[in-house]
Amino acid sequence: MHKPNTVIFHYGEIALKTGNRLFFEKMLVGNISQVMKNTGLGHVRLVRGRLLAEVTAATDLEAVKKLVPFLFGVVYAAPAVRTEPQMDAIAAVAVAMMKNAPEGTFKVDVLRSDKNFASTSMAMNAALGEKIIDATGRKVKMRDPGVICAVELLENDAYVSVERFEGPGGLPTGSQAPLLMMLSGGIDSPVAALRLQRRGAAIFGIHFHSYPITTRASLEKVKELSQVISRAQGGMTVFMVPFADIQKATVKFAPPGLRVVLYRRSMFRLAERLARQEGILALATGESLGQVASQTVENIAAVSDAVHMPILRPLIGTNKEEIMAEARVYGTFDISIRPHEDCCSLFLPEHPETRAKIEIVQAAEAAIEGLAALETEAIAKLDKITEKC
Ligand code: ATP
Ligand code: MG
Repeated sequence: MHKPNTVIFHYGEIALKTGNRLFFEKMLVGNISQVMKNTGLGHVRLVRGRLLAEVTAATDLEAVKKLVPFLFGVVYAAPAVRTEPQMDAIAAVAVAMMKNAPEGTFKVDVLRSDKNFASTSMAMNAALGEKIIDATGRKVKMRDPGVICAVELLENDAYVSVERFEGPGGLPTGSQAPLLMMLSGGIDSPVAALRLQRRGAAIFGIHFHSYPITTRASLEKVKELSQVISRAQGGMTVFMVPFADIQKATVKFAPPGLRVVLYRRSMFRLAERLARQEGILALATGESLGQVASQTVENIAAVSDAVHMPILRPLIGTNKEEIMAEARVYGTFDISIRPHEDCCSLFLPEHPETRAKIEIVQAAEAAIEGLAALETEAIAKLDKITEKC
């Protein structure tokens, strides 16, 4: 039996960033070690544009496979058997592994980053292919084969693999400046956070809750969702901001139709203040155009008017079904669908305004007595927590 003794991580986009390639690669080495810390995977090292991790007796490859979706920057990971870089040794391992690989067509893919190796990739592909056909009776299919038998020649070794764990691609989390993500406990915002991590940004969270008017359900959900998001970055800071008093004042002084837009303006203002305090340059949300009353172009404009910072909305053009599918991949879906009372649905009028006009909203806001003081009080009373996975 040939059991994998190495996992080879392939990355894509980083390789294009020639100027600071090493910076990205080092970050990815750290992220792999972090994400895989409970899988028993061994030391990770950089070899000729690949990252190689040792598989030991303690390594749980199924656990590794489950966590690859959180390895932002990695295109795929291949569990491989290391062998002598000689044709006979490689062929013996490849044939043995192909005998146990899933049924179906195959192709051989020799990647020769070590050009010292005598034979060319083409000749090796052909020779190995023939041996595998003879031994297994499988058919070759160049396009979209059932199994890819990959042979990588790196340093003084050959690595053979017949399986790939698909990764998310993108950039290593932490390679961009951090963002402050508004987390509601719903389906969309955690997916938005994970998408931004996939583009390199580490995430801080902020959640507005109406406890004790509502239960602590949204707080518990946001904590659990933050644990999932924390996976790719080794921990996550979350601000839990009490919001009930601001809501009560809004209900008392403002027209019912504008409540949601006004709640949102307060949320964004508070988020901006905290972001400034933490040295964070931009906010992010899980908004998707037209999905609910508060996400019309008019209302997005009326809410964004309350702050100066850029607001990133990675889901703005994404359909709900696609967002739900992503939430299932990351495992946030089952947490998000647990019931909770959204603070925005508290005191919700029957007919919320869907086309708020900025001047009217500004005037309504100015009429809320004591709002600035309540916002300052909310900051003073917030809970700053750290979640880890
Ligand atoms: P989600 O599934 O993320 O809750 P949603 O479809 O319920 O989104 P809204 O409730 O309109 O839509 O929220 C839009 C966005 O506003 C959320 O994705 C989140 O970024 C932010 N948001 C809403 N409620 C809160 C909250 N209580 N605390 C922090 N952010 C919030
Ligand atoms: Mg919501």
